[in-house]
Amino acid sequence: MMQLEKTKLQQEDIFKKIAGHEQVMFCNDPVTGLQAIIAIHDTTLGPALGGTRMYPYESVEEALEDVLRLSEGMTYKCAAADIDFGGGKAVIIGNPETDKSPALFRAFGQFVDSLNGRFYTGTDMGTTMDDFVHALKETNFINGIPEAYGGGGDSSIPTSQGVIYALEATNYYLFGDKSLGERSYAIQGLGKVGFKVAEHLLTEGANLYVTDIHEDVLMKIQEKGNELNRTVTVVSSEDIYSVDADIFVPCAMGAIIKEQTIAQLQVKAIVGSANNQLAHTGLVEQLTEKGILYAPDYIVNAGGLIQVSDELYGVNKERVLLKTKSIYDSLLDIYDQAKQQKISTVEAADQKCQKVLHEQKNRNSFFSRTIRPKWNIQK
Ligand code: NAD
Repeated sequence: MMQLEKTKLQQEDIFKKIAGHEQVMFCNDPVTGLQAIIAIHDTTLGPALGGTRMYPYESVEEALEDVLRLSEGMTYKCAAADIDFGGGKAVIIGNPETDKSPALFRAFGQFVDSLNGRFYTGTDMGTTMDDFVHALKETNFINGIPEAYGGGGDSSIPTSQGVIYALEATNYYLFGDKSLGERSYAIQGLGKVGFKVAEHLLTEGANLYVTDIHEDVLMKIQEKGNELNRTVTVVSSEDIYSVDADIFVPCAMGAIIKEQTIAQLQVKAIVGSANNQLAHTGLVEQLTEKGILYAPDYIVNAGGLIQVSDELYGVNKERVLLKTKSIYDSLLDIYDQAKQQKISTVEAADQKCQKVLHEQKNRNSFFSRTIRPKWNIQK
C-alpha cells in the first residue's frame, strides 16, 4: 500500500512537470546503452520537429528539464518560421566523445520510427549528421541529413542569409534605409554562420569589429577586408561588447546578454544567430531602457530550421532562400507591434507565434494536423 501511494505521488509529480506537453517518451535499450527522452510539445501546426542533443546529463531530471524546455521552444520557432511542423526535441543521456556507437543511433532510430511520423529529428549539440546516417537505416523520420543522402546539407548557409535579412530589416527600422554598407557591426564568433555574415557585410561595404577564439578565422576575415579595402578591427572576447558599432551580431554562444554586458554595449541594436542570447527574458526591458533594439534570436536564426523542414519535400535551395527572405517582413512586423503596443520585441514575437497557433487550432477539426512530406532520400 505504501509502495502504491508513493508511485501515485511520483506519477503526479511527473504529470505536473510535463503538463503542457502532448507526449514524453523515455527510450531505454540495455543492449546499446541508449537512454533517451523524446518530448513532443505541440503538434497543432504539424508533426513535431526538433534536433537530438547528446549530453552527459548528471540526472534524469536534468535531462527531462532540458528536453521539455527545448521542445517548447521549437513550437514557437516553427510557428515563427511559418513552417508546418510542431515542437519536439530529444535528448540522449551520454558523453558524445565516448558513448556513441552506430548501434546506439540505430536503436534511437527505432524509437523515433515507433512514433510513426509524429516526430522528426536530426542533429543538435553533441550529434552529427553522420550519427543520423545510422539512425536513417531504421527510420525515415530524420532530417538535416548530408546532401549525399538526399538532404539539404549545410544549414548555416540559409541561417546566415536569414541574419542578413534581419540586419536589413533592422537598418530599415532604425535608419530608414536597409542598405548594409553604411553601418558598422560587431561580430562575435566567426564560425559557420558568423563568417558568412561577415563576408557578406564586407562585400556590401561595411566596416567590422570581430572577435573569435580561433586565430585562423580572424586572419581570414582580415585578408578579406584588405582585399575589399574595408576596415576589420580584431578585438578581444571581452572588448567586443564595448566597441562603437551600430549593431552587435552575436554568432557564438548563448546567454551573453546579461547585466554586465548590457552596461558595456554602445550599439543601437542586437541582431545575431546565437541561440538563447538573453541570460533571462527580463533583460529585454533593460535593453529597451538603454535604447537598444533586440531582434529575438529565434526569429533571426530560423533559416536553418526552414531548410531542414523543407528538405522533407525534396531539396530545393531556391525555395528555402525564398522562405528565409520572409524573416525581413516578420522582424519588421515584430518591431512595429512592439512599438504600437508598448511591449518588448520578445513579447511581440511570442504573441505572433501564439496567434499562428491559435488560428491553426481553429482550423484543425479534431486531432493534430498531419502532413505527408514527399520523402526523397537515398539510403
Ligand atoms: P560554430 O561552432 O561554427 O561557430 C561558433 C564560433 O564562435 C566559432 O568560430 C568559435 O570559435 C566562436 N567562439 C566560441 N566561443 C567564443 C568566444 N568566447 N568569443 C568569441 N568567439 C567564440 O557555430 P555556428 O553554426 O556558426 O552557430 C553559431 C551560433 O548560431 C550558435 O549559437 C548556434 O546555436 C546558432 N545557430 C546556428 C545555426 C546553423 O545553421 N548553424 C542555426 C540556428 C542557430
